Amino acid sequence: MENRQNSALLVMEKLKEEYPEARCQLNYNNTFQLLIATILSAQSTDKKVNEVTEELFREYKTPTDFLSLAQTELEEKIRKIGLYRNKAKHILEMCRILLEKYNGEVPNNMDDLISLPGVGRKTANVVLSNGFGIPAIAVDTHVFRVANRIGLADSNNVLETEKQLMDILPKDMWSLSHHLLIWHGRNICEARKPKCEICPITEKCDYFNMKKV
Ligand code: SF4
Repeated sequence: MENRQNSALLVMEKLKEEYPEARCQLNYNNTFQLLIATILSAQSTDKKVNEVTEELFREYKTPTDFLSLAQTELEEKIRKIGLYRNKAKHILEMCRILLEKYNGEVPNNMDDLISLPGVGRKTANVVLSNGFGIPAIAVDTHVFRVANRIGLADSNNVLETEKQLMDILPKDMWSLSHHLLIWHGRNICEARKPKCEICPITEKCDYFNMKKV
C-alpha cells in the first residue's frame, strides 16, 4: 500500500506540473450558484453552462430569486443545456426545500446535500470541496476513467473508485486531485484515444505499461 501511495503522490506531482492552473471551471459567485451550476453541468460542458449562467446569475442569485420563475420560464433560460426540463424542475424543487429546511442556505454535509432533488454524490462532492473547502473527491466520467487507467483505482463503479482514491491519496490532496484528473482527462487522457505519446505519467500508468507488454 505504501508503494502505491507514493506512486499516487508522484502522479499528482507530475500532473500539478502539467496543469498548474487546474481548478473548477464553472463560474459562480457563491455556494448556491455553484450548486446550480453543478446541477446544470450534468451531461453538458462547463463552457456551455458558463454561457447560460452568465446571464442567469446576473438576475437570479438566491433561492427566492429562482422561485420567482415559473418552471417554463426557467426551462427557457437554460434550454441550451441538455436535460433542461428535468433540471429546471429539480432546481425549483430544491430552492423550495432550501428555503423551508435550510433558511435559504446550502447545507454543508453529504447527507443533506444528496437529499436535495437533482443532487447526487458527485454534485455534493463538488459543492463540499469547491464551495466549503471540505476535502472531497467528486468522481465524474473523467476522474473515473483516468484514475482506473492509471491504476490509482481498480473498480467498475464510481463509489468504489471514490473510496479507493480517498484511501490512496492524503486528505489534503483530494480536492486538487479531482481537478488534476479532470484536466488530464480533458487534455491528454481522452476517452476514445488517450494521447499517451505526450503524457507525462506513462511510467506510472498501468494502462500504458500493460499495452507495452
Ligand atoms: S499514459 Fe495514456 S492511458 Fe495512461 S494516463 Fe497517460 S494518456 Fe492516459
